[in-house]
Amino acid sequence: MSETIFTKIINREIPADILYEDDKCLAFKDVNPQAPIHFLVIPKKAIPTINDIEEEDREIVGHLMLIAAKIADELGIAEEGYRTVMNCNQFGGQSVYHIHLHVLGGRLMGWPPFTDKPKSLE
Ligand code: 5GP
Repeated sequence: MSETIFTKIINREIPADILYEDDKCLAFKDVNPQAPIHFLVIPKKAIPTINDIEEEDREIVGHLMLIAAKIADELGIAEEGYRTVMNCNQFGGQSVYHIHLHVLGGRLMGWPPFTDKPKSLE
């Protein structure tokens, strides 16, 4: 699979508003925020979709969740709450094929998610 924009962000080939980095993951603000706080936590390993996660990725994937919670706490949204989302493939609404955990906060989230057809399926 060809390199995505997220690999370019990891490699500092394109800029991003980076919130956190360690040897396994990177967290940065979403360029098109859907809430007052919206950031992404991505593994440095380029795993295209949830379907591609392997047994050896167990620790990396769990790490994304721990780092999401740590940053949410630092940003002051842990107690009021927030939404985490990882979209998978077309019906899940995935647009960048390098897994990423969305963290959205700072407003009340609705549930369930909208059921309208995405533009790509019209
Ligand atoms: P997906 O639709 O794959 O679940 O989410 C991809 C997310 O990546 C979208 O929310 C989109 O706004 C964000 N995104 C796409 N390109 C860039 C970029 O170049 N920089 C940043 N910071 N976010 C991006």
